[in-house]
Amino acid sequence: MNPDQFPEDIRPHLIPEPAGDMVYRCLECGAEHGIDELLYTCPECRGLLLLEDKNQYLLREYSGAFWRRLFDYRKMLNVPALKGIFLFYELIAPVIPLEDIIYLGEGHTPQVAANDSLREEVGAAFYFKNDGQNPSASFKDRGMAAALSYLNFLVKKPGAGKMLAICASTGDTSAAAALYSAYLGKQIASAVLLPHGKVTPQQLAQPLGSGAKVLEVPGVFDDCMKVVESLADNYQVALLNSKNSWRIRGQESYAYEIAQYFDYELEGKVVAVPIGNAGNITAIMQGFLRLQELGVIGELPRVLGVQSRHADPVFRYYLEPDKTKRVFTPVTVQASVAQAAMIGNPVSMPRVIRLVEEYTRRAGADSVAVIEVTEQEIMDSMLLANRHGHIACTQGGESLAGFRAAIKAGVIAKNAVGVLDATAHHLKFIGFQQMYFDNTFPPEFEVTPKPEYQNKPQLLTPQTEDPEKKTQDLAGQIATLLGLTPK
Ligand SMILES: *Cc1c(COP(=O)(O)O)cnc(C)c1O
Ligand SMILES: [Zn+2]
Repeated sequence: MNPDQFPEDIRPHLIPEPAGDMVYRCLECGAEHGIDELLYTCPECRGLLLLEDKNQYLLREYSGAFWRRLFDYRKMLNVPALKGIFLFYELIAPVIPLEDIIYLGEGHTPQVAANDSLREEVGAAFYFKNDGQNPSASFKDRGMAAALSYLNFLVKKPGAGKMLAICASTGDTSAAAALYSAYLGKQIASAVLLPHGKVTPQQLAQPLGSGAKVLEVPGVFDDCMKVVESLADNYQVALLNSKNSWRIRGQESYAYEIAQYFDYELEGKVVAVPIGNAGNITAIMQGFLRLQELGVIGELPRVLGVQSRHADPVFRYYLEPDKTKRVFTPVTVQASVAQAAMIGNPVSMPRVIRLVEEYTRRAGADSVAVIEVTEQEIMDSMLLANRHGHIACTQGGESLAGFRAAIKAGVIAKNAVGVLDATAHHLKFIGFQQMYFDNTFPPEFEVTPKPEYQNKPQLLTPQTEDPEKKTQDLAGQIATLLGLTPK
């Protein structure tokens, strides 16, 4: 819609101007640092950072109703920079000029309702929010759109020079980083570090196709992360891991979209999300908290974090009910089909601890729960979902497995409405489905296929060489196989 078609009170706000005063805030020592360089940890104490807008109080001069109206109207505006996560510009990074924003089609992913039979099987109503329908086929594009827009803004400042963006990844961060860097072109080159043999062929293909330098490291993700940190400590590189607080900001858009979907009425909603490095759950909690602070939503939804038993440090941490006795201990991960979340020492853990405290203070002790599921439950849930028309990946299967387990355990009421994060596209993790179908899971996965979910193609062999009769013969074979009734 053309800007002059919008209601008069909306028009001056439709296309926002940078009016924020953003700083990095250290979670450990509280120090404040300017955003004129990309910091990924506190230069003083190496603590984790979160971005803060010191002008956020100015947003509170407008009512929640105003923001709801503005965000809803903005959806009709055809300005590319505001088509993706920056629809919520004022809440994400209101310092980046619109012309520096990179939009590759991220965000506003479909929220697809479970049909009646799936809902019955699971025991409550729910949706999958298909973040696999982002440009690089995972939710990582949300954060990357924010981080690369910021880098694009930074790199234009005098004397910035060429930048090397680098990240360690369980696969999807690399795919996203490489894609967005490729779009930006010459000034930003990207290099990605992947654990050798621990990403799927599809995930490996993505950064290669985008022209990133792909470096494989023996070990698991946690090993790659250490190398990248050492690089960031000693060399001029822009670190794009989820320690990067711009990514967290971008990922908050997931929470904003859920709120918008439900017309900002979130009572009785449960948002289920797999936890790996814990950036996503951090962003989701922070996003909902921010909406509540501005009066955009009233009730906070419940948040359900899900981990595999093979990579469950966050679950273990919250097993201790007394918060003064909780001690975080990294775990050594075991083989997991939820490979993108197979992380034993999540870098965002301090953020999670901080935000869970704030969230539960506002919404009650049971407003955040972390649950664990087996590899078997993850695979079975993924296939169950896909058999009902969804495109959940293994991590999406993990969300569903967690949601089911929480209903069973009475953690979630049967009249709750779930929004389950299908964090990547099914096809990125298709190899696990194949292992399930072929019953070729190595024993450490502890997955035994259920015959009702197995499937395989059936090759037809024509019984004749005659080209004319061949078609009829094959049609006849199919008719017999499917039990077709002749006309
Ligand atoms: C990165 C990733 C996760 C884990 O998210 P965190 O923010 O690291 O907790 C889950 N699923 C997919 C598909 C991912 O790419
Ligand atoms: Zn600090």
